[in-house]
Amino acid sequence: MIDTHAHIQKSEYEDYDKVVLDAINQGVEKIICVGFDIASSIEAVEVANKYESVYAVIGIHPSEVENVDENYIETLKNLAKNKKVVAIGEIGFDYHFEPYNKELQKKIFVEQIKCAHSLNLPICIHSRDATKDLLDTLNENKEYLTNGGVLHCFGESVETFNIIKKYNFKISIGGVLTYKNARNVQNAILNIPLEYIMLETDSPWLTPEPYRGKCKNEPKHVKYVLEKLAEIKNLPIKEVEEITTKNAYELFKFKD
Ligand SMILES: [Zn+2]
Repeated sequence: MIDTHAHIQKSEYEDYDKVVLDAINQGVEKIICVGFDIASSIEAVEVANKYESVYAVIGIHPSEVENVDENYIETLKNLAKNKKVVAIGEIGFDYHFEPYNKELQKKIFVEQIKCAHSLNLPICIHSRDATKDLLDTLNENKEYLTNGGVLHCFGESVETFNIIKKYNFKISIGGVLTYKNARNVQNAILNIPLEYIMLETDSPWLTPEPYRGKCKNEPKHVKYVLEKLAEIKNLPIKEVEEITTKNAYELFKFKD
């Protein structure tokens, strides 16, 4: 299993060593530690440097765009010299919590799409309540999307998936898939080929059932997402594990 999206920085987990080791002991082969601002991106690279099975994604989350300084792209480019950095993210749009600045979110998103392109890296997209602006922005910048990407914490329709797959994008799904009130996502997943799906936890958030509401999420819980996905697809767990792992290798091209 590969947890393609987790925030296991030391600012999230006092004892992230235990979090990493518990995951490895439970059969997690790789964990991708995702940044959401400069500080957490630096921390993601630190965890990745410490553990062979951990990789880093670096970038500015749409909810953090007010806090970037003018040199942030240079900083990201310097950090990306590290071989464990496998994508730029999580980047995109978030219109869920007011106030938000749509223009600034778009500017920072596009700058990072171009940054990823110049570095030959895929992108990891966060999008919440912003489907139209996301699709418009991707379309306007399609010449920069040659390294593919992932729409993480997928909560969109099959129609939206059919548009983003043209850009060589995959999706990743986490604990939400296991929730009773997640019929829409479950139905969408039923109609999206497994070749496009990867697993994630989004730790420390979105703990899957049967632990929802009981504890902080950790990468070791990715197996509950795998089990639910296998159930929805009516396929053996082993087969779903192999295909989702292969998908992650295809997109992130792990070097070390
Ligand atoms: Zn995240």
